[in-house]
Amino acid sequence: MGETAGPSHAATRGLSRNESPHDPLPDIVASVAAGGRDVNRYPDPACTDLILALADRHGVEADRVAVGAGSCALLQSLFQLAGSGATAVYAWRSFEYYPVLADQLGVRSERVPLVDDTHDLTAMADRITATTRLVVICNPNNPTGTLVGPEQLRAFLDRTPPTCLVALDEAYFEYVDEPAGAGGLALCDRYPNLVVLRTFSKAYGLAGLRVGYLVGAPHVVASLREMALPYAVSGPAQRTAIAALGVEEVLLTRARETIAERTRVRAALLADGFAVPVSQANFVWLGLGEDAGPFGRWCARAGVETRVFDGDGVRVSIGSPADNDAFLAAVRRWRIRRAAELLTTGTVG
Ligand SMILES: *Cc1c(COP(=O)(O)O)cnc(C)c1O
Repeated sequence: MGETAGPSHAATRGLSRNESPHDPLPDIVASVAAGGRDVNRYPDPACTDLILALADRHGVEADRVAVGAGSCALLQSLFQLAGSGATAVYAWRSFEYYPVLADQLGVRSERVPLVDDTHDLTAMADRITATTRLVVICNPNNPTGTLVGPEQLRAFLDRTPPTCLVALDEAYFEYVDEPAGAGGLALCDRYPNLVVLRTFSKAYGLAGLRVGYLVGAPHVVASLREMALPYAVSGPAQRTAIAALGVEEVLLTRARETIAERTRVRAALLADGFAVPVSQANFVWLGLGEDAGPFGRWCARAGVETRVFDGDGVRVSIGSPADNDAFLAAVRRWRIRRAAELLTTGTVG
């Protein structure tokens, strides 16, 4: 669409779903196409080759890896494993899918408020009771982007009874650039009740193919494999996830470009007077409170789609440099309009 089109005709820049802004690499497109040649056949229900590739990649035994149709499918199985009537502890605000799964599967939610947009692991440990079967820690947290470090995680895990599973959702692991962001896989040996979830949907750019995985203790992995729907992960998805591991270096270079853009976008927002927590993911969080809805609609009219949490905040994915520029231009016009409003109404904000 033409750049001269008015706001209502502007091309929509999708910054609401934390997708990779990069076009799939030629190897990935070729793998999906090759996978199309045998879609008359059922895929390997055990995802054998992909599991071996992931086990090799992470230096763990294959019986410690479970694969699912996106990490959301594995999260669903974890809530199912917790069981109807059990309690799950997770932070709030966090990934909006956790309460959905809990409600669907009859699991009671114990939501522990974030402090400074960050998990309060001490308060979360305090809320674990005899009925708590699952704790989910989203690290970095969606939608605030904040990270908890390994010392805090270890202290939390030391306080968690072995009967309670702790799921570390590391969907945005590849965007972490703090030294404290070593990730949870290194803790799995020491804590058999810890499972770590990763996905091909974000930094690996395969959101449309639906592949995620989990690393954990063999008995947990065995339960999850038994619960999985047969053939849930398609053949093209399995083979393309392996292809993505083969071009991982390029994909991680792309993730570093996103990190550089994240730094640029946050700096511009801070310069415009917004409070933006340090993000270790591929999005930034604007805790705008009551302004969240109006701000999100303003961005939408400027052709920039964001994720609005009404009355709370707006999550904005880091896109291509052009998408990010469009977002920042909309922000600047919002600030100017706001300043003018304050002048005319005499309100001091
Ligand atoms: C995007 C995301 C996922 C990944 O979901 P998939 O089902 O693997 O596409 C998992 N957890 C969080 C917190 C996410 O934001």
